[in-house]
Amino acid sequence: MAPDPPAPPFTPPKLNPVRVPVPEEPVAERVADFREVIHAYSREAAVLEAKRCIQCRRPWCVEACPISQDCKEYIRLIAADDFDGAARVTLQDDPLATTLCKVCYHYCEESCVITKKGVPIAIRQLKRAALDFGDSERAYVASKPKAQRVAVVGAGPAGLMAAWDLGVRGYSVSVFEQEPEEGGLIRTIPAYRMTDADLREDLARFRDLDVTFVDRRKIGRDGSVADLLAEGYAAVFLALGTPDHRTLGVPGEDLPGVLPALEFLRASTHGNAPPVGRSVVVVGGGDVAMDSVRTALRMSPGATVTLVYRRDREEMPADPEEVRGAEAEGIRFVFRRAPVRIVGPGRVAGIVVQTMELGPPDAGGRRSPRPVPGSEETIACDTVLVAVGQQADVRDFPPELGLRISPRGWPEGVGPGYTTHVPGVFAAGGRSVVYAMGAAMEAVVAIDAYLAHLRGGAPTARPDPFGGPGSFHLPVGYTKPIRAP
Ligand SMILES: Cc1cc2nc3c(=O)[nH]c(=O)nc-3n(C[C@H](O)[C@H](O)[C@H](O)COP(=O)(O)OP(=O)(O)OC[C@H]3O[C@@H](n4cnc5c(N)ncnc54)[C@H](O)[C@@H]3O)c2cc1C
Ligand code: SF4
Ligand code: SF4
Repeated sequence: MAPDPPAPPFTPPKLNPVRVPVPEEPVAERVADFREVIHAYSREAAVLEAKRCIQCRRPWCVEACPISQDCKEYIRLIAADDFDGAARVTLQDDPLATTLCKVCYHYCEESCVITKKGVPIAIRQLKRAALDFGDSERAYVASKPKAQRVAVVGAGPAGLMAAWDLGVRGYSVSVFEQEPEEGGLIRTIPAYRMTDADLREDLARFRDLDVTFVDRRKIGRDGSVADLLAEGYAAVFLALGTPDHRTLGVPGEDLPGVLPALEFLRASTHGNAPPVGRSVVVVGGGDVAMDSVRTALRMSPGATVTLVYRRDREEMPADPEEVRGAEAEGIRFVFRRAPVRIVGPGRVAGIVVQTMELGPPDAGGRRSPRPVPGSEETIACDTVLVAVGQQADVRDFPPELGLRISPRGWPEGVGPGYTTHVPGVFAAGGRSVVYAMGAAMEAVVAIDAYLAHLRGGAPTARPDPFGGPGSFHLPVGYTKPIRAP
């Protein structure tokens, strides 16, 4: 038999370094209320942008995504005008796609090869187009039910990802959440970036999985991890995150008018924020600080809003897109200053800051700030929002679990697959929505292996979440969980 003719050499399409512009609400209009800042692509714009992708043989974009979202494939389908196909590909790896298409920090784009010559493909924006123009209302399908129950504690991104992945594998999952609603820190993200409706859209796709949400139950206080195991849960996944705020630890922090940014944002996203004044100082340099300055401006239009950060702009951990957004909206940035005390009388009237000089880079590559003696100055203000980080609340969890607190504050197991010292108990979280989901995904592989071992079977890969060939199908019209709470 004659050998096959050699394959024609691969000729990548000509590289176009210029991104199809992402539409934005003009600054003058958007700062007056909480309307959406970044708008969706039109169908035509999405196809044009997708056509810029050169479909790399080794897609760094996919490798950089913590949940290995097959973005290369959904981009290919959009370029071919197949939005239904693109929506399916998006949703099959990503149960929080409607949320992530608005707020993901798009690590994929940083790795996109086009960055070498121009602006990377707008991968997150194309995810949004896939859902906007494709069939995004489909429901997930559980595989054949397994007679094992798993308790997930915490309904933030890590807990929701775990619940989805376990539900699709056929486990019966109960998610315990101390708050009245699911979402974790997602529910503090301001409405000009995403709304609760986006998350609800994601959770609606869980409707046919055996996942039950039990809200207002704080594990540790309302029953322990040991109680959950005794109740018959074969495994427990702790996705506790960082629900508490860190403080500055300076005199005057208890004055009226000084608020933890997390509480301020949590209240303002749900319409009951305390009033902010005409001169607001936000302390911090991360995404919470960025959301706080922009939210404060919207709540008090025309106010002077100042961000105080102890390092330089380059060292700010905030997403550059958010920093640019804040700058465009007129936020004043004061770098290399750290608060020393907050002054009254009676309520906040100013914040005393000290100039910092930056020393050599530390082990993490960031220069450590050192105070310059005699450099104190006062910034007059009537509101101070403290955005210097979040922390876990593990007071009610026993030390026998061996939980480690990650450098960014969330509790996690230290063994492979985030195992804790107690068999069957796992714990993980993450520094962003998609990182938390990625950690949960890793933990679920370990949970599945543990449960397979208990039932004398072998672990399996996650099945097609839309019930592809060979999957178990629930009866038509099925609406209730297999097991009531
Ligand atoms: C203001 C703000 C804006 C952000 N913006 C972005 C963004 O744009 N993009 C991005 O990717 N990331 C963003 N993040 C970060 C992101 O939200 C977090 O990294 C992510 O939510 C972490 O997920 P998690 O599941 O590990 O923890 P969390 O989101 O903290 O969720 C933990 C959940 O567990 C619950 N819980 C804790 N203890 C118990 C208990 N004992 N019993 C029952 N329930 C319990 C909590 O109530 C909470 O619901 C933002 C964070 C904040 C604060
Ligand atoms: S989830 Fe985030 S990192 Fe992953 S492909 Fe989508 S935008 Fe990129
Ligand atoms: S790295 Fe960029 S160009 Fe390559 S496949 Fe991914 S999105 Fe396309």
